[in-house]
Amino acid sequence: MITQIVDEEARTITCPRCEEAQPMRDFATLGMSPRYAPALAPIYRCKQCNHLFAPRVQPHPVIALA
Ligand SMILES: [Zn+2]
Repeated sequence: MITQIVDEEARTITCPRCEEAQPMRDFATLGMSPRYAPALAPIYRCKQCNHLFAPRVQPHPVIALA
């Protein structure tokens, strides 16, 4: 089982270091050129512990396995 970092439904991201689930809007996305944004994975910084991480980008559409 893969532990989800990004919860699209709850709009939360779980920091992989402190394991605190926090609202997506509370995460600062580091500067990214809009021109290349579709080709880049966003990097987030956790406000609680300052950990930097880039969640693995899911292929779209995400298929939920029952
Ligand atoms: Zn953290």
